[in-house]
Amino acid sequence: MTGGTAPLAGRTALVSGGGSGLGAAITSALLADGARVVITGRNERNLKETASRLGPGVSHRVCDVSDPAEVAALADSLAGEEISVLVNNAGIAGPVAPLTDITADDWDEVFAVNVRGVFLMCQAFLPAMTARGAGDVINIASVSGKRPLLRRTPYCASKMAVIGLTTTLAGEVGPLGVTVNSLSPGPVSGPRMARNFHLEAERTGSSYEEAEAAFVSRSALGRMVTEEEVGAAVTAMLRMPGLCGADIDLSAGMVAR
Ligand code: NAD
Repeated sequence: MTGGTAPLAGRTALVSGGGSGLGAAITSALLADGARVVITGRNERNLKETASRLGPGVSHRVCDVSDPAEVAALADSLAGEEISVLVNNAGIAGPVAPLTDITADDWDEVFAVNVRGVFLMCQAFLPAMTARGAGDVINIASVSGKRPLLRRTPYCASKMAVIGLTTTLAGEVGPLGVTVNSLSPGPVSGPRMARNFHLEAERTGSSYEEAEAAFVSRSALGRMVTEEEVGAAVTAMLRMPGLCGADIDLSAGMVAR
């Protein structure tokens, strides 16, 4: 969609972790709805490649969202832009292991990116939104934040924290005209899930296909979500007036079938 009729025409979005995976798909959906998009991440080559692949509406900045100084520098460098959509998508999966095998450093690393990163980005970009009395934040959580997966304690706990941060912050800035919501995708087809299935197959002595089937049977759709569906969900949420403090599932987690 292009031109003045596009729902996000004239708006600029910032997508963390926009250089790959879901972040790139979300960027693509925002562009299709007429937004300009700034993507951030740690890997400059990925960012550059994605920006040039997606076209002239995308620019990029290198930023580690877990680092307060880098997030402050990012906000300074974008002070001239009116960022009115913030998608906190950057996230890491962390170790797959029983709790007793997880180190304090593993724990801190997952929380630094998945939770502190969301906190720092919100703290940096919300003041301009509340001053204008308009803006939308979407945090990418996970169904693992509600229906935990065994041996992924730091990841599940971090995504639960993202949902908690979302609902709390929504009540703080909603009255000032800014919406805060989270999106919780079930397993999404792509390299991250493929890695999971390989690990699970190795651990259980099953085949890759069996590991995939066991995992996917625990999600409501009984299949993996596509990256395009995640992008479409983000833009759909931005078209829902009054949505604030919500966490939306894409293929909710089920009790094992
Ligand atoms: P991915 O690994 O392909 O992408 C994550 C992106 O975040 C990468 O571009 C990476 O460079 C960036 N990133 C990592 N640490 C960063 C940091 N400190 N600062 C800035 N950027 C950083 O993973 P993905 O599958 O696209 O996941 C994106 C988000 O969706 C994550 O928050 C993930 O937890 C969530 N999610 C993924 C799935 C899935 O099945 N893939 C399901 C539910 C939720």
